[in-house]
Amino acid sequence: QTPPKPRGRQFFANPGPTNIPDSVLLATAHHTVDFNDPAFAEVYWACIAGLKRVLKTGQEVFLYTGSGHAAWEASLVNLLSPGDVILILESGHFSQSWGRMAKDLGLEVRTVAADWRRGVEIADLQAALAADREHAIKAVGVVHNETSTGMMIPLPEVRAALDATGHPALLLADTISSLGSLDFRMDEWGVDAAVGGSQKGLMLPTGLSFTGVSRKALKAHETARLPKHYFNWGAMMQRPLKSFLGTVPTSFFFGLQESLRLMEQEEGLDNVLARHTRLARAVRAAVQHWSGNNGPQLFCTNPARMSDSVTAVLMPEGHDADALRRVAMQRFNLSLGGGLGPLGGRLFRIGHLGDLNEPMILGTLATVELAIKVGGVPHQPGGVDAALASLAA
Ligand code: PLP
Repeated sequence: QTPPKPRGRQFFANPGPTNIPDSVLLATAHHTVDFNDPAFAEVYWACIAGLKRVLKTGQEVFLYTGSGHAAWEASLVNLLSPGDVILILESGHFSQSWGRMAKDLGLEVRTVAADWRRGVEIADLQAALAADREHAIKAVGVVHNETSTGMMIPLPEVRAALDATGHPALLLADTISSLGSLDFRMDEWGVDAAVGGSQKGLMLPTGLSFTGVSRKALKAHETARLPKHYFNWGAMMQRPLKSFLGTVPTSFFFGLQESLRLMEQEEGLDNVLARHTRLARAVRAAVQHWSGNNGPQLFCTNPARMSDSVTAVLMPEGHDADALRRVAMQRFNLSLGGGLGPLGGRLFRIGHLGDLNEPMILGTLATVELAIKVGGVPHQPGGVDAALASLAA
């Protein structure tokens, strides 16, 4: 017998895509407009200006119709040549995937290895840069917020390692699950290519991605020889909108205009970040509480690097995270993120970024605790009370 279809809204606590505010949904459902029309150009350029303010850059931005992978690829093919060395800071599934992409594109990938629960040692990065006296390394790639493990890598420390060694490599940062949720400052932190996507902190549907590009990176682009066509920044610069070689996905920009209004005018960017910190602390308080009695625990063990946009929760030995996620989904209509790559089945992830408030996060935590209870997973009951105490403080 098939179970009855659940009523009420599905609780969506994935770390991306994320919940879309109703006003953004409505704005996105805009009738078709001519993307060459000056009236659209006005909306478009206002969005580009807003995106630059969110990236905290006064430099260039190029956009693509495609998910975050598109912007990853664009950042590599526009800046590097066959056989160039890219040094990737290992952080988890997404740093590995970006590295695999770089290898497939014909780059030599070196890795600063790291414990996924603690994150890379900046001293190891600095040693790798110092040892590279010939400056074979052309780019350093870092995932600012590793969505698979719930860890934030401090970009100012990465920049400082490059500066301390006088290394000229370009700094490429994946901000896909940090932009609009965690503090990110492209120009101040000397990021040369900032990779971003629409479906997380920006609270839009999936399918628009972009790269913030520094002047230094634009110079490197002039001599970069990896093959490219759709992603070619030089060709984009010849277009009236300075992006998009093909049809411009106009509806995204009506949505983006609204999400920028919500972030900048209704709430204020600093308040957006503060809200993410507040909700993340509550999630961590709940998980830390559950971890008693050999319960589920925080995957990230480095307090300074715990992510304010996603929390990965490691299951006790012998308990399957995907079974727990099935209970949450099938019985209670709560969608949680799963473990990626080698972490499959070992952890689940609670996304707490984007359009989210206290009742939504408390509903999620209470339902996770319910799923843990009915799933027979050992834990210390009372995680929701710990979250309440955190929020009340
Ligand atoms: N990088 C990070 C940090 C991500 O979280 C994701 C997706 O979740 C990606 C890259 C890949 O982006 P997409 O799935 O939009 O192609």
